Amino acid sequence: MESAKGESYTFAGFQKVLKAQPALHGDDMSRTYAPPPEHPAADVRDEGFLAAVAAGESRLTLDQGLALFHALPLPELGRWADARCRRLHGEAVRTYIIDRNINYTNVCNAKCTFCAFRRDADDADAYTLPKEAIHEKIAQLEAIGGTQVLMQGGMNPDLPLDYYLDLLASIRERFPRVHVHAFSPPEMVEFVHFFNPPGADFAGKVRWVLTRLRDAGLHSLPGGGGEVFAAPVRRKIGLGKCDAESWLTVMHEAHALGMFTSATMMFGHIEGIADRIHHMGLVRAWQDRVLSRGVEGFGHYKSFISWPFQRENTPLGRIKDWGHAPEELASEFPGDVVARAFAWGAHPDVDYRDLGPAAAEFGRRVRMSGASDYLRTQAISRLMLDNVYSIGASWVTMGPHVGQVALAYGANDMGSVMMEENVVSSAGTTYCLDEAVLCHLIRGAGFLPAQRNNTYDVLRVHDGHDAPDLKVTDWSTHRARKLHIQAPKAGKAALTVSAKP
Ligand code: SF4
Repeated sequence: MESAKGESYTFAGFQKVLKAQPALHGDDMSRTYAPPPEHPAADVRDEGFLAAVAAGESRLTLDQGLALFHALPLPELGRWADARCRRLHGEAVRTYIIDRNINYTNVCNAKCTFCAFRRDADDADAYTLPKEAIHEKIAQLEAIGGTQVLMQGGMNPDLPLDYYLDLLASIRERFPRVHVHAFSPPEMVEFVHFFNPPGADFAGKVRWVLTRLRDAGLHSLPGGGGEVFAAPVRRKIGLGKCDAESWLTVMHEAHALGMFTSATMMFGHIEGIADRIHHMGLVRAWQDRVLSRGVEGFGHYKSFISWPFQRENTPLGRIKDWGHAPEELASEFPGDVVARAFAWGAHPDVDYRDLGPAAAEFGRRVRMSGASDYLRTQAISRLMLDNVYSIGASWVTMGPHVGQVALAYGANDMGSVMMEENVVSSAGTTYCLDEAVLCHLIRGAGFLPAQRNNTYDVLRVHDGHDAPDLKVTDWSTHRARKLHIQAPKAGKAALTVSAKP
């Protein structure tokens, strides 16, 4: 089957599109990887330069990324990000995965100001799931054709290494076909603190823990806890959470062990726009490092997903919006002032209190992100991250239809159906979609929906009449359908399935 442009809709044809980017996908990654050249003098409004960026032939510098963020009208920026996306992923197919979030514990010794999920161990609704409850959730996932489980939790000092090893081994034994994508870098950093593993340095200790978890059944790491890497921001919003260097080191060690990971960014709070670009630049630089080591035995970042901060029920969400007093808007946003002094990381210890009145409210004002700011940020990420294969749309936080529009702003992947989500839903987001709705959204955006696995190999292209969305006869009732399994309350591991129209 072919499109009007002669592009194959088949699995083999799609694989051909993927292999056109050998440096970015799996085993075909080039042994002689070299990043695209930079042209720092180029004007970001120059269409020839932007065409070269979209083709992967030229790299945006950090300064150019920041300038581009502000330079172009949103639809125009979207068109360039879309051009880059089509170059990498073709014209025909956009993907999704069927996986399940399992938050195995909400007990956490960190106190991130943006978090509504964490509990202290003695809180009435603190929980840690026994492996039997986790198995039940995975069985439900397999029953709907799911291929991956995403497990993340709080940083719980009461859980020994054996809890994780036993859990992973039991999942591998009972569900050998399920890919285990689990334990984000902040959890890994705390594992090092909790378990005091052998190792000459932090990286060596991480490697020791990662090796044991991998051998027990861990396949890949999610990019949670990335937030915003810039040290002044991180010091303000992530109380007790690891710094950027530790986060990136964990991922680098995972890559060195052959594991693929994702990277994330949570923006739209106290940070400057330059902090977002700096964050993307760090992911890109560390990706260069691992890609430059060659293909044999190495993993790398497969995807980047960014989403705006959700404020409900969080300490950070209670601070005032920038511009709550109109006269504030005559000044620059304090996050932008501090980001400029941070100077792309050249001054990591910059103290906002030394920057005068312009930065005085840093950390005490949020600049919340709406749909257009989200789409602009995602589009920039597609253009900045020339060495990352996939950009994921964040419909979980932005809503299904903004997620759908995001497919025209550089995203190639709609993420997962949502059987269960406890973290951002604690902060007020409650979107929950099944496979038919996800396929409907992708098809409505002008693409064929395709189910993928964790490594972005396509499992099924829905180009026939038996597609999940094409079997739906009444969208007026199906749209509201949710498949949401609530987090257990204190002392209960029982699950409540809600699939009501
Ligand atoms: S975001 Fe994660 S690390 Fe931070 S407090 Fe919440 S559960 Fe803990």
